[in-house]
Amino acid sequence: MLNASEELRLQEMDSIFLTHYGRAAEVVLRAPGRVNLIGEHTDYNDGYVLPAAIERSMLIACSPRTDGKVQAFAMNYNYSTLFSIEGVQPTSDTRERWSNYLRAMAWVMRRQGIEFTGADCVIQGDVPLGSGLSSSAAMLVASGLMFTSLAGAVIDPVKLALLAQQAEREFVGVNVGIMDQYISALGKVNHALLIDTRSLTYKAVPLPETGVSMVIADTNKKRGLVDSEYNTRRSECEQAVAILKNVYPGITALRDVSVEQLLAAEDELPDSVRQRARHVVTENQRTLDMASALEAADLKRCGELMNQSHESLAHDYAVSCRELDELVAAARSISGVYGARMTGAGFGGCTISLVADSALEEFSEKVPALYRESTGLEAVLTVTRAAQGAERIR
Ligand code: ADP
Ligand code: MG
Repeated sequence: MLNASEELRLQEMDSIFLTHYGRAAEVVLRAPGRVNLIGEHTDYNDGYVLPAAIERSMLIACSPRTDGKVQAFAMNYNYSTLFSIEGVQPTSDTRERWSNYLRAMAWVMRRQGIEFTGADCVIQGDVPLGSGLSSSAAMLVASGLMFTSLAGAVIDPVKLALLAQQAEREFVGVNVGIMDQYISALGKVNHALLIDTRSLTYKAVPLPETGVSMVIADTNKKRGLVDSEYNTRRSECEQAVAILKNVYPGITALRDVSVEQLLAAEDELPDSVRQRARHVVTENQRTLDMASALEAADLKRCGELMNQSHESLAHDYAVSCRELDELVAAARSISGVYGARMTGAGFGGCTISLVADSALEEFSEKVPALYRESTGLEAVLTVTRAAQGAERIR
């Protein structure tokens, strides 16, 4: 189902499709962006994450072709691309680098034996690009659904997520986890998903249907040199596992270590490794606790856990930055905010706050002003409820 703003976007897409291709779009697909409520930097430690799909999405309108070619017009870039499915490879043309996501998906699906003979399409998204709300996953998952639909096939959504992950890793060349694609493919309206990134199973956890919203605030801080930082964190986590294995021989990832076990063996770890491990192990527990708190509709507890998550990311994992801290502090100064934390990998990107609907107006007015005062930057707010995952609309 489309929401009202998606309906309007689709009307425009239909008319552009008609002008562009001289025929009507037969098939329409939608895939949402996402926000992670809690469970940060736990995914590559085999742990839990708790994301929700958001009311921002990628829409694709398309009709089949029979000549083995894919033509796409990207409304966000006002640019067209054309490639043949058989010889698909990444483009280095900077004007259409966006089309690598589409090419990537055509490439993995073909490798998977999903047979389609081409497509004309118009694509349009309102997930902010490159802000950490995963416009890339929305684009990959929507493209994957398009190619399966055109092949007359159906695909298991977990499989779709895995293929989208392969596309981003092997073709686009970004070493991503599974969370973004998974939640875009499987999201459930008014629910967050507690995803076990080891078993790839999930449990849908209800969010209150009224009275509270998720407010995402973009710091608009340009990220610099973060890749090397992430690589250091990853290797510190591996170091922690290697050392803790001497004490707990059964473990293969930090996910296997309980908070009590870590406390009992902390002294074995060098300082920074101990801090990193402490974040991952306690964050994993907080993610499970948050799912329970949501099931009990205990928003106060949810807020506490989100606040603790931020402190842990800032101090133990050291992936926050001044802008994220200021935005979180501004959010917490509003009464009616249950909790606020950075969301995403860190060093910039967005914060997420759980906000009583009665406080939304005050939040929108004061938080950007406070943030501007302390940083000189403009925070961009997105108020959303949890949306449905990817689907074929037409
Ligand atoms: P994020 O996933 O956090 O938004 P990424 O850098 O991973 O940021 O992905 C953003 C890229 O995905 C864009 O630069 C573009 O190449 C592609 N993309 C996302 N949405 C669209 C869109 N609506 N149209 C064309 N390309 C898109
Ligand atoms: Mg991305």
